Amino acid sequence: MHSVALTILPVGQIDADLSALTPGTPPGSHVLVPVYAYLVTTPQSLILFDTGCSDLCRESPAAILGEDLPRLTPHLHPNDHIRAQLLALGVTPDMIDLVVISHGHFDHAGGAEAFPGRPFAVQREEWEAMTDGADPAANLIPAAPLTLLNGDTDLAPGVHLIATPGHTAGHQSLIVDLASGPILVTSDAVYTAHHFHPDRVGASQDPQKARESVQRLRALAADGMRPFFSHDPVQAATENWPLAPFRLN
Ligand SMILES: [Zn+2]
Repeated sequence: MHSVALTILPVGQIDADLSALTPGTPPGSHVLVPVYAYLVTTPQSLILFDTGCSDLCRESPAAILGEDLPRLTPHLHPNDHIRAQLLALGVTPDMIDLVVISHGHFDHAGGAEAFPGRPFAVQREEWEAMTDGADPAANLIPAAPLTLLNGDTDLAPGVHLIATPGHTAGHQSLIVDLASGPILVTSDAVYTAHHFHPDRVGASQDPQKARESVQRLRALAADGMRPFFSHDPVQAATENWPLAPFRLN
């Protein structure tokens, strides 16, 4: 057994209009959803999966969100930034061996600003879409040794990335094999328990691919992996997931 550990870091909240999360929902009802990043500790390395929001999301959210701001309003304290959350664990940016993002959206890629020069990995298709100029989050990624991934990738013993496109072109999810069992970090392939169904996928660039990705994740969950969703307002509490500083082993 590899001794791999997972720390789930809360990195702020977003006041989301339900219509931004669930296609077809009428606008007007809001929910406060969490944002998470994930620190994976292996005997050889520290890997960060997702990075939360940029400081700019707090300082000038309109510059990042534009016309989406009323539907997705960040609720951020300076201590929510990934830099502060890691520091509370005694981890400084130079200690991170690899920064991986699930996809290029502001609440997953924005905190990459804290890791200038650290090795960085993203799916090739996602990078190509991000650098098309459409997504301002791409501008926040610092110049760094960049690895472009082509689908499913084993990062380390017990640490695997799987391609889950649909939400965005090159979205990926994370599997961490803990001694207590494998964890499936869905990121935005599945926002909440409600969206963990092919008929109820969340906002997606390509809904058909998103449904296929949800099917793939459901099959893995049926095989015994515990899914952790990206923006579920109640899952951590109702299922007793320990958040940072606690580690899952
Ligand atoms: Zn998200």
